[in-house]
Amino acid sequence: MGTHEISERFAERMGDRSVAHDIRTVGDFIGIYCAAHHRDRTRSQAITDAARLGVYGDKAPVVCDECAQHLAYAEKRRAYCRKDPKPFCAHCDTHCYSPAESAWQRQMMRFSGPRAVFHGHALDGLRHAVEAITYTKKARKAAASGSTHEE
Ligand SMILES: [Zn+2]
Repeated sequence: MGTHEISERFAERMGDRSVAHDIRTVGDFIGIYCAAHHRDRTRSQAITDAARLGVYGDKAPVVCDECAQHLAYAEKRRAYCRKDPKPFCAHCDTHCYSPAESAWQRQMMRFSGPRAVFHGHALDGLRHAVEAITYTKKARKAAASGSTHEE
């Protein structure tokens, strides 16, 4: 992160309310995850590009360094996503996340999604649950037809 220039495109995208909303949501999710898993680490308010642009207001997620990297990655992917409306990244058919990052975000979401309901994300939690069911059905169908590739 450091003091690099924030791209104009990224800054412009933060002006989109749904982009900012999704980024705040993933920030909360990663904050919940980090609080539960990385209590033994030094954790502080993330200084990601979105945080520097004020997307989180004065409530930037409190995370460890590792989670801050994951958050910065998710912010960028969301900012540059061309899908509208945007599905939750874990269930998106466009694989813009690297496999390792996708796996990390997916297990993070599985942990934080249900818990986020108690953090004022009732609708996001619900939407996530519905998408998870759809995704599981699709995956089962693909497995049943002997296809191994993802759609
Ligand atoms: Zn962490």
